[in-house]
Amino acid sequence: MDMKIYHDEDADLGVLKGKKIAVLGYGAQGRAQALCFRDSGLDVIVGVRENGASWNKAKEDGGMKVTTMDKAAAEGDVVMMLLPDEIQPEIYDKYVKDNLKSGAALEFAHGFSITYKLIVPPKDVDVIMMAPKSPGDAERQQFVEGFGVPALIAVHQDYSGKAKDIALALAKGMGCTRAGTFAVDNFDQETKSDLFGEQSIECGGLSKLIEEGFNTLVKQGFPPIVAYFECCHECKLIIDLVVKGGMPYMWNVCSNTAKYGGLTRRDLIITDESVKGMQKVYDMIESGEFKKEWRAEYEQNHLAKLHALMDADSKTLLETTGKEVRALFERKN
Ligand code: NDP
Ligand code: MG
Repeated sequence: MDMKIYHDEDADLGVLKGKKIAVLGYGAQGRAQALCFRDSGLDVIVGVRENGASWNKAKEDGGMKVTTMDKAAAEGDVVMMLLPDEIQPEIYDKYVKDNLKSGAALEFAHGFSITYKLIVPPKDVDVIMMAPKSPGDAERQQFVEGFGVPALIAVHQDYSGKAKDIALALAKGMGCTRAGTFAVDNFDQETKSDLFGEQSIECGGLSKLIEEGFNTLVKQGFPPIVAYFECCHECKLIIDLVVKGGMPYMWNVCSNTAKYGGLTRRDLIITDESVKGMQKVYDMIESGEFKKEWRAEYEQNHLAKLHALMDADSKTLLETTGKEVRALFERKN
């Protein structure tokens, strides 16, 4: 691999000694990261809405100062924007911009706000990213078990001359240098690759592939439960094989019939048109068209379309069948 992978010995938690780590937001990433930093001996301040759900949760978890976002931003030597991407710009304008200390580090777990210039930080701060490649709860779980998930770091602005060391230290505080942490060239690389992956493959493409496969079997008269097992449930088992040992390992574990059928039929499913679609998805990310649409959905439409789409996706036959199937896997004792 031509990309350097950083491990524990490449990162020094000492660069965060005496520094206050202000974690703004206490959701999926905020909570997982704050708790890991706390347990790594760092001085954590949680900045959240007063008396909101997160406020109470952070107080309950303990071992960290809990305060409002403006106060946390003012005290933080590292200020971490662990809030939903769509609300980051207004939180930054209202609570962070005028409070940020000169020489502090402004940190992100995803590059959207910086790449699309929705947040333009002052010149006298570091701007860094430390993006664990995992959902928050799995991240925390791995840390508690004494390991960590891989992470990606990036530096957008290096005012202190120590921006990369700070990002690496944060990764170490999460256990991410145990697994391995890699640096991308800039925020753009993370933002655009992340958006592309979630839109075309792991969230968008896969959910559609599963649903259309399921619908096709049901249309032929197969019981929905059978269709669900084949088109949805087994995907996880196959992906686990791919993650563990790559495509050859996955194919080897499958029957010869599955190997031959899969390798000769897959081009009927993902066609040249689908590949053109992927390019189109990428082009809309690159040109800023997706950003523009997503900002309008938040600012003008108040996420109405998103909520309607989510609602429709929870009422499909695939989903009502899924509820039944998942119940079979719940332990009754
Ligand atoms: P969440 O949706 O989990 O964040 C919820 C937090 O934001 C809560 O503390 C909530 O506070 C607060 N919040 C929400 N709306 C507001 C508001 N209007 N005003 C003030 N506070 C608000 O975010 P994620 O953890 O999913 O995402 C954070 C960042 O991490 C994003 O940049 C995302 O792209 C990135 N990321 C996320 C991953 C994930 O696992 N989800 C994976 C990798 C990166 P309250 O309880 O008061 O409502
Ligand atoms: Mg992603």
